[in-house]
Amino acid sequence: MFFSKINGKEKKKIVLLPHIYPDGDALGSSLALLLFLRKLKHDVELISPTEYSDFFKWLPGSKEILVFSETTKYLVEKKIEDSDYIFFVDFNNYSRINPLNKFLLVAKAKKILIDHHPYPFSFDFMFSDPKASATSILVFRLISQMNHLDKIDKKIATCLYLGIMTDTGSFRFPSVTSETHFIAGKLIEKGIDINNIYNHLLYEKYNENKLKLLSKALEKLKVMEKYRTAYTSINSSDIHFYSYKKGDTEGIITYGLGIKNVVFSVFFFEENEGDPIRISFRSRGNFDVNQFARRHFGGGGHKNAAGGTLEKTLFESIEYFLNIIPNYHKNLIFSI
Ligand code: MN
Repeated sequence: MFFSKINGKEKKKIVLLPHIYPDGDALGSSLALLLFLRKLKHDVELISPTEYSDFFKWLPGSKEILVFSETTKYLVEKKIEDSDYIFFVDFNNYSRINPLNKFLLVAKAKKILIDHHPYPFSFDFMFSDPKASATSILVFRLISQMNHLDKIDKKIATCLYLGIMTDTGSFRFPSVTSETHFIAGKLIEKGIDINNIYNHLLYEKYNENKLKLLSKALEKLKVMEKYRTAYTSINSSDIHFYSYKKGDTEGIITYGLGIKNVVFSVFFFEENEGDPIRISFRSRGNFDVNQFARRHFGGGGHKNAAGGTLEKTLFESIEYFLNIIPNYHKNLIFSI
């Protein structure tokens, strides 16, 4: 049983890895694990493979995050090399932590998956449940199964609540179950300030450049009524013009889905000229964007939220997409 290994008296060296450009759930669940495992007196490091949005920098424990960069790479390498356990948090595919792969290949640590994405690779220990609405739910279950619910304090509860809230669109997505609300209730009992968490997400979402970048994307938005699909893009000159920072394109994709009858929204992103194009997919109802992204864009994700990349120009990527979409006419028209 894995729990006994980190529930004992022996101090372990543990590294927690969220995915690149970690979102609310990846950060919420890994910060909760960081704070919890430190309470068990383990030596724990949370390493983010890339920078993350300023918008999450109020989260408890976030100042402790070691962000991988040119200046921290030797420290990161050493932490990974020395660790007994490495937790892969909120992703299940090595492409999602690409900058760290070369260190992971030689790491002797046991690898533990804690994630809710479908079709995981094999790890030494797996806490995988694609039905769970957030990885933060799985972290709560893990703490509960270790009989340590009393160790969840206001800080840990805030991180978990944020993770659940962001991954469920504030408790609106189909993945939400009675368990989701049960756990949210338990977290509220720990004294968290829900209104404050919500206000952070609502009022600190934008800076001027980010809002103008959104307006650029909305200006370019195209709606294909026939396919109930909306798509838009941001290119490297937009990025340059609005002094883009990581996370500034977050949320752009959700606007398309807000249009009546649209069930599929797509966002093409060219960060630098010549870079592969990153594409995000969102759907509502039964149109499966995980399958779509896997089949055509070398990516994946969830049924209603996925991503992929193309080694093409932005123009070619959009053309490629426009050529594929008629094949899905029926699926889109009959999507409920
Ligand atoms: Mn998640």
